[in-house]
Amino acid sequence: MTLPPLIHPTGTPTAVTTSPTTRAPQPRIAVVGGSLTGCATALLLLHAGFHQVTVYEAAPDAAPRGGGLIGLEHPALDILDRLGIGQNEVVAHDSETVRRVTVRARQPIHTLRQRYPGRNTTWTLLHAALATRLPAGVLRTGRRVAALGVHHKQPVLTFGDGSREVADLVVFADGRTSTGRRLLDPSRRLRYAGYVAHRGHAPAPAQPLRDFLRLEPGPGCQYNVAPIPGGLDWTLYLTCSPTAYAHHFGAPPERRTFALPHHVGPAARAHVDAHATRLLPAAHAAIVHATTVRMAVPMMDIDPPTRMAWPVGAGWAVLLGDALAPVRPHTARGANNGIEQAAGLVTALTQHHRWGADLGAALHGWQRRHLPAAVAAVHRGAAIGARLGLGHHPH
Ligand SMILES: Cc1cc2nc3c(=O)[nH]c(=O)nc-3n(C[C@H](O)[C@H](O)[C@H](O)COP(=O)(O)OP(=O)(O)OC[C@H]3O[C@@H](n4cnc5c(N)ncnc54)[C@H](O)[C@@H]3O)c2cc1C
Repeated sequence: MTLPPLIHPTGTPTAVTTSPTTRAPQPRIAVVGGSLTGCATALLLLHAGFHQVTVYEAAPDAAPRGGGLIGLEHPALDILDRLGIGQNEVVAHDSETVRRVTVRARQPIHTLRQRYPGRNTTWTLLHAALATRLPAGVLRTGRRVAALGVHHKQPVLTFGDGSREVADLVVFADGRTSTGRRLLDPSRRLRYAGYVAHRGHAPAPAQPLRDFLRLEPGPGCQYNVAPIPGGLDWTLYLTCSPTAYAHHFGAPPERRTFALPHHVGPAARAHVDAHATRLLPAAHAAIVHATTVRMAVPMMDIDPPTRMAWPVGAGWAVLLGDALAPVRPHTARGANNGIEQAAGLVTALTQHHRWGADLGAALHGWQRRHLPAAVAAVHRGAAIGARLGLGHHPH
């Protein structure tokens, strides 16, 4: 479906309100995507006193993916604290240490202990903590947004089944293949970076692990492993041609942007097992070999964003989290960016609503503060990949 023309296609800020106005009516806020960024946004909005908030999630089930490890830095953890989500609920192992191990010929030769400015959680724990706090009726599953247009000057969402919903503000938190980004910022397309994060949930080892372990066995490989409730979560980054990716996971990386357990075929298992045997110390290779539940994520790059908010008729649409800019997992910034952007957005909206602040000005201020961190994470991901000799390097 095509996007009807925007009323302010240039994105020129609207006139600045110079005097305090009376409290604005409650805006209707539609959040597209009910994963981490979408649920965090909705919860923050409700806590700030916005009542007309609805989350539209395409997946029929609110928890579409068995999720892996996510490192949250202190700012995101503090935002969760303020929502009443304490670390005892989402952090199973409270280590703040990353052990970075240089490996040669399958033997650890040097270990560097680094302090991590945050703690590790998992997608599953964090999503449950957020989603179960949303009042009944806020999160609507099985609702795939297909288009955004303007009707009587208001932004209107069209769903896959043809139904429509009007909103004053549309928050796209619909992830790396975002429909919102395709409609609002169509020139920024995903590009395969030439390597894959192979992932697995393994049973707990005989010797319990507490810290996040990062093993670097030389060019073309990185292996991370950390404890999660009920076992271990590991990620093995390996270079992979687009053809091999399609052979391993049944579709090219641009189409299969998450390979779920049922997409991981025998060729992918054999490829990962062989690299684990060749590159990792025996104990870690054994962890990989013993893993039955496997997934994979192709590394996808995108041009850095230049804006986060667009006027749509008399309303606005914004991009948040992976919808704005999916970043490579090495940066450990994806979920952090989404949560920090959501909190900043709610601050801007609160000032607009409570004190009559001009919404366009508030959104531009929000964008000015949060865009640099999103851009930096896009660049840092590519730099880390190049340092590790992973994927293809244009420069
Ligand atoms: C191996 C790995 C390790 C990672 N480690 C970290 C880490 O340590 N720290 C960190 O901060 N981040 C980490 N990340 C990144 C983090 O997982 C993501 O950045 C984060 O989950 C993105 O959340 P999101 O809500 O923006 O998008 P997503 O989780 O992708 O959610 C998007 C949601 O939108 C829904 N949706 C999509 N299209 C539509 C539509 N048209 N209509 C309605 N709904 C739609 C989807 O079904 C989905 O539920 C890691 C990622 C990987 C793969």
